[in-house]
Amino acid sequence: MDAKVRVRFAPSPTGGLHLGGVRTVLFNYLFAKHNNGEFILRIEDTDQSRFVSGAEQYILDTLAWCGLSPDESPVHGGAYGPYRQSERKADYKKYADQLIAQGNAYYAFDTPSDLEAKRAEIPNFQYSRAHRMEMKNSISLSAEEVEALLKNNTPHVVRIKMPENEEVVFEDIIRGEVCFDASTVDDKVLLKADGMPTYHLAVVVDDHLMKITHAFRGEEWLPSAPVHILLWKYLFGLDQMPKWAHLPLILKPDGHGKLSKRDGERLGFPVFAMDWTDPITKETTIGFKEKGFLPEAFINLLALLGWNDGTDKEIFTMEELIANFSLDRVHKGGAKFDYEKAKWFNQEWIKIMDNEKLSQLVQPYFDQAAIEIHEHDYLVKIIGLVKERCHLLPDFITQSAFFFKAPTTIDTASIAPKWEVKKQQFFEALVGIYTDHISAGKQTIPAIELEAHFKELATLHELKPGELMLPFRIMLVGGKFGPGVFEIVEAIELKDTCNRIQYCLQLLSTN
Ligand code: GLU
Repeated sequence: MDAKVRVRFAPSPTGGLHLGGVRTVLFNYLFAKHNNGEFILRIEDTDQSRFVSGAEQYILDTLAWCGLSPDESPVHGGAYGPYRQSERKADYKKYADQLIAQGNAYYAFDTPSDLEAKRAEIPNFQYSRAHRMEMKNSISLSAEEVEALLKNNTPHVVRIKMPENEEVVFEDIIRGEVCFDASTVDDKVLLKADGMPTYHLAVVVDDHLMKITHAFRGEEWLPSAPVHILLWKYLFGLDQMPKWAHLPLILKPDGHGKLSKRDGERLGFPVFAMDWTDPITKETTIGFKEKGFLPEAFINLLALLGWNDGTDKEIFTMEELIANFSLDRVHKGGAKFDYEKAKWFNQEWIKIMDNEKLSQLVQPYFDQAAIEIHEHDYLVKIIGLVKERCHLLPDFITQSAFFFKAPTTIDTASIAPKWEVKKQQFFEALVGIYTDHISAGKQTIPAIELEAHFKELATLHELKPGELMLPFRIMLVGGKFGPGVFEIVEAIELKDTCNRIQYCLQLLSTN
């Protein structure tokens, strides 16, 4: 029987999580859940110089918001911990030693200034087979010299010795067979002078120790793959290696190049999952969450960036994605990001979502806009009336503020050109009728009846209801938007309706 599927997301905690990163998490997660496997979060924090405070917590918060909870992680625990590489330092050295003993790696004693001098001398210098012998390492130096340097604790790193004339070949689930000429790749550092492994050694050792069966990551890691494949071959055997899939890039809207944080800033859309505040510059980059996306929609749109189920279906719940996901339907080419389409997904999810649940999500926006909600049930009802018109959660404010307080700015300019005494009389009569209803104890009337009364009154005044609808809407809402006019009247009730009509009639008469 095949081993239990175990996949990992292995971010370096260096800042906000790009939507491409979340899509990598998602594909890992869906694959794991589809196969009853386990999804592991491993924090790759061996590069202390890139440490960013708060970045790990941000990743955890983002996964929680997206509903992509790991089975094992630094906070969820698990049988293969620790799940932070900085806490696994002791594990790596023995593998570096093994590689040296086997002749697959070597000590390099070059100082930073040695390397700088070499870079100045040779354009595009690479520490590789071509220049290895010109440098200070355990291949170029004699055994005695090396021994003496080690004995004196001379600072050194361990580098992989990339083989000569070897093709590194592996099978990528998405791309098929991938080949690299090993001699074009430099001798990457595996263990740094501080005893910390680099990403290359740590990723292979940990994938092995954590029994990872499938490793899926962004296409930007493809150039590193030959180093990883060789390390697998030297340390654990290729038959032990996880199956690889390098996921296609998410491209700029015009399809030219990878979508970057800067593109988002330039074009006015989020690229990070959630707001990220740089702890040093204090600069905040907006996230999908804070922009007003629902996590369900964010997940749905990410899944469809580079994958489909073979039909035209576009709206998927997490359960449906888990049931339908398969890597052979992931496209090889990059997927263009289309923000309008992303908003469409959100709108579709807003339509589906339960109004009560939406009310909890939009409440903070109402608080922010200082709109007081006196009755929770009223908010839930209004949400039902306007949700079809909302793409993002803050749209609920623009689309429904007038249900909670009368508009302060009224677009009378759109009424004035066709305004006439007949219409003025009509609205005065309407106020009269509503006032009679109020006196008879009615606060409101169902929308259907309101519409019927309105039409009858229009006929009586020899006006077409069509000519009266736009002015009426503007009187109630302030502008040319909103749900059905009579639904609005029913919700804001007769007294408020009369006040708004009268206020507007006054404005029109003083114009
Ligand atoms: N630590 C790498 C990153 O920051 C992980 C690459 C991989 O999954 O192998 O994305």
